[in-house]
Parts: sequence; C-alpha cells; structure tokens
Amino acid sequence: MLITVNGLVIRSYPSGNSDRIVHILTEDHGRLSVMVKGGASKRAGTTASCTQLFTYGNYELYRGRGGDLYWYRGGSVLTPFYELSADITSMALATYLCDVAADLIPEETEEADSGLLLKDLLNSLYVLSRRMKSPTLVKAVFELRAATLMGYCPDLSGCALCGSRTPESSYLDVMNGHLICSDCQTKRNRIRDVGFTDEELRGRNILCPVTSSVLSSMRFVSEAPPKKIFSFSMKDSEEERAMERVTETFLLNQLERDYDTLHFYRSVMI
Ligand SMILES: [Zn+2]
Repeated sequence: MLITVNGLVIRSYPSGNSDRIVHILTEDHGRLSVMVKGGASKRAGTTASCTQLFTYGNYELYRGRGGDLYWYRGGSVLTPFYELSADITSMALATYLCDVAADLIPEETEEADSGLLLKDLLNSLYVLSRRMKSPTLVKAVFELRAATLMGYCPDLSGCALCGSRTPESSYLDVMNGHLICSDCQTKRNRIRDVGFTDEELRGRNILCPVTSSVLSSMRFVSEAPPKKIFSFSMKDSEEERAMERVTETFLLNQLERDYDTLHFYRSVMI
C-alpha cells in the first residue's frame, strides 16, 4: 500500500548501522512509524534532510502486507525548522512538545484531532523558531491547546461554586478541571477548618492560582482558531510563568505522567 502524507517528524532514532526510524505526525493518519533505509548513513543526502527531526514535509510511504512499519520511499521538505536545532532551549522545548503530541495522538488514527494538534504544533514551532514569543509562552499555549483538543479542557467559564465569570483571582482545581474563585475558596477553607472532610483533606486536590489576566489569556487560547493562538500578549515574563505553571500542572495531572524531555528543558532554562 502506498500513501502520500503531509506530516512533521516528531521523533527520530537510529536503527542498526545505517537506518533510521522516524515518527511522523500526519494530517490525516495520526502518528506513523516509518523506516528510513540508509537514513542514518553519511551519504543519505535528500533522504536525511527530509526525515530530520522537526521537518515538516510531504512523504511517500509504503507498507507491505502484514508489516508494522511504513517504509520511506521519497519526499520533499515543506518547512524545515532548522533554527530550532541551533538553540538548545528551543530544541529542548520542541522535543518536549513533540513528545506530548506523540503521546496524545495514537498510531494510524483518522480522527480529526490529529490534524488539529498538528496545526497547533506547527504554529508553536514556527513562533518558537523565529523567537516571536518566549519559550515559556509557547509552552503554556501548546500545553493548554493539547489538553483542550484531546478532551481534557478545563471549564474556564467561571467559578464552579458561585458562578462568578470575572473573579479577580481564582484557583484552577486541577483534578476536577474547574475554577474556584478566591472568595469561595476562603469559605471552603473556613468550613474545612471546623472539621468538614473533603478531597482536600485527603490531599487529592491541587489548586493552581489564576489571576484575572491569566484567566482571560487561557480563555482566549482555548477558544482561538489555530492561526490565532498566539495573537495575544501578556504583561510580563512573570505573568507568562504564572500561566505556564497552571497549564503544565493541569496537563501532566490529566495525563498522569511526567516527561524526561520536560526535565531536560527545565535544566537548560536555568
Ligand atoms: Zn466563587
């Protein structure tokens, strides 16, 4: 079977002495594992540039009957994102974002979410490679979009207890995926102090502080069309970090996992 796909190389590792296996996130077929014969050899030429990590390209792939892997037959580069590999912070962040995408998109699905997440990932890599936004903001936006697209979207419409849509400050209840305004949280704490037992007492609730400004940015990002997800700005880097703390905590808790690539990104951010 021969297919032609547009996709982004999100993982790449050697196989044997001269071959390479790459994972390609595609528009229409989810994530594909592809054997690139000779892809790791020094004479790979065009094949190597087409199948390099972070390359968005057009690929001709085929698979024999009963085979698990697709085989690379040819391709052309659409957008290379070379700049990402020239900067350790950008490369580390791009690797983490690709890891999240690889985790969320199953192999060979025809679900539309695969194509939407690919669009968000391409936009994120574009903004990151051209330094149009800080890595912190790119990370926060992609984490929230990834959670939203895959059905983990938190309810950001207002306080889950009193319904206030514009709280001055609030908390995102990470495990339950909803907001609690500061006033309601203060009341809950008073009740708890006199002996009310709830999930907090069992240590299961994680509350992330959310200012009104961070909340409006998160609402914008979760509802924006793919081309507009970066069409906003925040007051300063401290506010960007505040949003990133919320999106990271939410995503990792919803997925119930951690990423080595995230730890590496943090280590190079210091
Ligand atoms: Zn409230």
